[in-house]
Amino acid sequence: METSTPRRTIKAGEIIFAEDDAPTTAFLIESGRVCISTIQHGEIRVLGELGPGALLGEMAVIDSAPRSATASALSDCVLTPIDRDQFAERLAAADPVVRALLMSQLTRYRSALATLTGDVEGEQSTSAQDDTHAFDKIRLESELRAALQSDELEVRLMPIQNIASSTIAGYEALIRWQHPQRGQVSPNEFIRLAEETSLIVPVGNYVLARVCDMLVELRKRGHSPLPFIALNVSARQLEDPDLVDRMLTHLRDRDLPPDRLEIEITESLVFNQALIGNLLDRCHAAGMQVALDDFGTGFSNLGPLLTLDFDRIKLDQGFTRALDQPRGLALVRAIVAMSNALGCEMIVEGVETVEQLEALKALGCDYAQGWLVGKPVSLQAVLDAG
Ligand code: C2E
Ligand code: MG
Ligand code: MG
Repeated sequence: METSTPRRTIKAGEIIFAEDDAPTTAFLIESGRVCISTIQHGEIRVLGELGPGALLGEMAVIDSAPRSATASALSDCVLTPIDRDQFAERLAAADPVVRALLMSQLTRYRSALATLTGDVEGEQSTSAQDDTHAFDKIRLESELRAALQSDELEVRLMPIQNIASSTIAGYEALIRWQHPQRGQVSPNEFIRLAEETSLIVPVGNYVLARVCDMLVELRKRGHSPLPFIALNVSARQLEDPDLVDRMLTHLRDRDLPPDRLEIEITESLVFNQALIGNLLDRCHAAGMQVALDDFGTGFSNLGPLLTLDFDRIKLDQGFTRALDQPRGLALVRAIVAMSNALGCEMIVEGVETVEQLEALKALGCDYAQGWLVGKPVSLQAVLDAG
């Protein structure tokens, strides 16, 4: 009997499911005892007994393989059927690494069972594609952990130009991972991975320390006025209550003015207004600046700007690309007006052409960042140029 009607009463001796049946349902044993057996060389071999509270028949429901054993009631039983969709939904929503671990254990168990029962064909691999993806991810994570200890992570500086004076006012710190086999891994790939684990905290601390050391180096080389360096912080870092204190400690240890360090918070993180509001207050009290990154993407909700007092707004490069169209130009003009009205400075990202820069200048925009101004380069290149 395989059905998903709630609570089934099974009489002693009745078969619940048989070996080789197609799986549709797992069961929770509410009362009674169940025997799990298989046929080996024509004889019944008992694999185990299950009692109240145990899950029955879940393996085949998870990996969709035919039942590898027969379940029969040893005494009168009450079972609650669990539909395969209930598992499927949760499995689909689970972390791919957790899913791969479960599947790997299931494959290993089936293989052990096959050896035990002499069924050589029983060995099978489940969702190999999914596993490869999940294990790639976990491998990359281990490698990133190791990269932190070696010299594979590099912080590059991307110049930000003051449009009116045509001078470099500051830089955005952008991390790079020079992987020994994969070559350069994009931060879009590994920052997300680092965020899924607590690895983002040491990665963020590494960037913070490097940025502060870079400011010291720029000061030593006579870069005056000292440019600011903006650093990107991610969701987990924002939740760290010690973030601002850690930044201030790094600055104080090197005798650096706090207004030379800027934090960039991407627009999609701003939904947590209480958290960001608190961070803004603390940064402002300490003299640090905060920029709203990638403005115009993500939620594009203006609500947070009612209360959150950002120092700078960074307009996403999508708008820069649209500057040569009337609608794009109109939108950027309106955003510049909004930013001025709020007392914010505006940095426009992704400026690649002279025409774009000229258009931004005409609109009264404060800063430009993009390939036209300069690509992300090493500190050495900045020092050599200055
Ligand atoms: P973001 O903060 O919006 O950084 C700007 C990205 O746009 C950078 O990519 C930059 O190289 C690219 N870009 C700037 N100007 C141009 C241009 O004119 N044309 C084109 N095609 N691209 C341009 P990148 O370095 O790959 O960084 C991607 C994202 O990774 C960053 O977006 C940021 O969200 C994240 N990220 C980078 N470094 C860090 C870090 O140290 N910590 C954290 N939490 N995130 C980081
Ligand atoms: Mg940024
Ligand atoms: Mg950005």
